[in-house]
Amino acid sequence: MPRRAATHDHAFPEPGHNHARCAAEALHKAEAVCAARKTRLTEIRRDVLSLVWQSHVPVGAYDILARLNAGGGKIAPMAVYRALEFLIEHDLVHRLASLNAYIGCAHMGEKAHAAQFLICRACGTAAELDSAPLKRALTQAVTERGFAIDSQIVEISGICPHCTP
Ligand SMILES: [Zn+2]
Ligand SMILES: [Zn+2]
Ligand SMILES: [Zn+2]
Repeated sequence: MPRRAATHDHAFPEPGHNHARCAAEALHKAEAVCAARKTRLTEIRRDVLSLVWQSHVPVGAYDILARLNAGGGKIAPMAVYRALEFLIEHDLVHRLASLNAYIGCAHMGEKAHAAQFLICRACGTAAELDSAPLKRALTQAVTERGFAIDSQIVEISGICPHCTP
């Protein structure tokens, strides 16, 4: 019998959950974050963000571009990258280097944070943790070695609770 953690913080969304609600809430929060920071969620930024939020599986820039232009549009790759840069800068989206793909932030509008991602290699879902003890331990271990951190996103690959046989 595979052992399941007795308590987990529901980092992994239930299969079949009401994802339209996740996406709508995310866009709503993003609007609020932009308003609070006196910047704008322009049409392209909003379109890119909603494509990132199509699921909890990270998506690549070229997939985003292809979907944006699916109706025969001519949006340039640069426009998508610029929109992604903006979304990352405002912590609305995270880039997962191991997949070269993007995922919506689960803690939008909260303080700047060091994200930790659990990435399921079976279903592709990426769940964001915001573990303060993990961050503290990591920061300490790194700074003790005289290393100055620019960014720290931890990416851990494995099998999520829903894909565990
Ligand atoms: Zn969802
Ligand atoms: Zn985040
Ligand atoms: Zn999975």
